[in-house]
Amino acid sequence: MSLVADELAPPLPPGRDSRLETIEDKVRHGVRLNESDGMVLYETPDVHRVMALADLVRRRLHGLAAYYNINRHINYSNICALSCSFCAFHRKKDQEGAYEKSTEDIVRDVQGAAAAGATEIHMVGGLHPWLPFEWYLDTLRAMKAAAPHIHIKAFTAVEIVHLQRISKRGAQGYAGITSVLHDLLQAGLGSLPGGGAEVFDDRVHDAAFKGKIRGDHWLDVHRAAHELGLNTNATILYGHIEQRPERLHHMQLLRQQQDHTLRAWSAAQGMQPSSDGSVVLTGPAECYPNQRLPMPGQLGLSTGYFQTIIPLPFYPNASELERLPAPTGLENLRTLAIARLMLDNFPHVKAFWVMQTLPMAELMLNAGADDMDGTVVWYDITKAVGEGNHQETTVGDLTKAISDAGFQPVERDTLYRRVMRDGAAWRVAST
Ligand code: SF4
Repeated sequence: MSLVADELAPPLPPGRDSRLETIEDKVRHGVRLNESDGMVLYETPDVHRVMALADLVRRRLHGLAAYYNINRHINYSNICALSCSFCAFHRKKDQEGAYEKSTEDIVRDVQGAAAAGATEIHMVGGLHPWLPFEWYLDTLRAMKAAAPHIHIKAFTAVEIVHLQRISKRGAQGYAGITSVLHDLLQAGLGSLPGGGAEVFDDRVHDAAFKGKIRGDHWLDVHRAAHELGLNTNATILYGHIEQRPERLHHMQLLRQQQDHTLRAWSAAQGMQPSSDGSVVLTGPAECYPNQRLPMPGQLGLSTGYFQTIIPLPFYPNASELERLPAPTGLENLRTLAIARLMLDNFPHVKAFWVMQTLPMAELMLNAGADDMDGTVVWYDITKAVGEGNHQETTVGDLTKAISDAGFQPVERDTLYRRVMRDGAAWRVAST
């Protein structure tokens, strides 16, 4: 039986690469792709069929819905103890362009965002050398007091390990990570963003971001967050010194961890366990009647989980790797499509328009992406084109882009619950 509703994913016309037929068969029947399949997807000249396969999966999971949110990014400081070679964001103290926001500045930003109807604050920064751990807790509490309903998604895994060190819990290992996350959760943290993952490979790590945590450490932080009930996202920063097999291995490690996280949920949903323990999400519509994608608080899901994979192209401008070319548009589309196909247990794939551009994000909605991120407002870290850090787009621009791409815009909150809105006033829909 085909697992795909025919009206959403009609049969594809004959392709140019017969190797893709076997892969298509697997995809249509919810069978997990392996890393060799991933290499075929990277090597085939028929990139359009790769995108069509990813589109098939995306429509199976989400139909015509394409998500966006109303959010505000806050980068609290660009002062960082590290100097990763691909990073054009960080500064040293007293270096031109270095800044740090006070708690009062941040609260003002939060109040402005709340007044404009934002549902989410996304806050990350450099590894600040002298701000104490209490500053982070006090700032979260102040943000929450200023706007109790806003969800605070904050701190990459790299920052969490930094906070573990400055809170003098470094020697406690995994228990120290859990304890830091627990304190942040109590202070108002709602979820973790996916940054800082880069590419899980020691060779790439040592050459491009030595000093930053390695992949196993990053995964530990997210595992601890999931165990505490926090949802998280994941990224892959590609197109610098890594090779394609290393990207696939990165996806494989994320997928493996998500299997572990979703196993209890899938059993509670009545999904047949696979012999290798994999959990492949094939959609709420046809193959698992009455079932849904994982949602917070659902039967059998007491933990958090990875919600979204966000493929991020590397932009070399102003970094130490400025000599490298940026990935091409086709490579960006192909990598996003492959992420959709390989990460079969991630509910969502995001086309982060700030780095991909809005027109590319429209194309990506037809190549595996189901989410456009949000209105953003300020984003200091990196972007595709132009100068300055004002990166605002309007809800009208986002919904038009989604409609132009042939999908139906759905406003979501951070946890992918549908939002009902009347101007700046909003609530989460009950179903
Ligand atoms: S990537 Fe993050 S940790 Fe590395 S230098 Fe930039 S801000 Fe610091």
